[in-house]
Amino acid sequence: MEFKTGRCGCGSLKYSAEGEPINSVFCYCKECQTHTGSDKWFGIWFPKNRFKITDGEFSVYSRKGDSGKDLNHIFCNNCGVTVCVEVTVGNFYSIAVSTLDENESINPSMALYAASAPSWAVFPAGLAKFDTLPPGMGE
Ligand SMILES: [Zn+2]
Ligand SMILES: [Zn+2]
Repeated sequence: MEFKTGRCGCGSLKYSAEGEPINSVFCYCKECQTHTGSDKWFGIWFPKNRFKITDGEFSVYSRKGDSGKDLNHIFCNNCGVTVCVEVTVGNFYSIAVSTLDENESINPSMALYAASAPSWAVFPAGLAKFDTLPPGMGE
């Protein structure tokens, strides 16, 4: 089985994810812009039972998603980098692609909350775009 590994900015918080992600997503919601300092969060999604923190100390910042369920940001106690967000409504983790040890081979499969994107955001040609979430997702 293939494992994807990654780490925070200072390298002390490490994680491992098993197998292939169930989704690969650009999220342009306002919260993701604030947390990344960018136009979007690029996340790959792994079911909770295929993801684990393998080393380091972290804290959790919880906020409510549009579903009303918690989104739990897991960030390094030392450098503050968020390595993943637990999406409780879907029982998965969204791993920050920017924190993967190897991310060259990863491409997005859809853009969420595209209606909230800043006017200067550039979308890859052909990428499926949704103003908020695709029908049926997040309910
Ligand atoms: Zn760190
Ligand atoms: Zn978002």
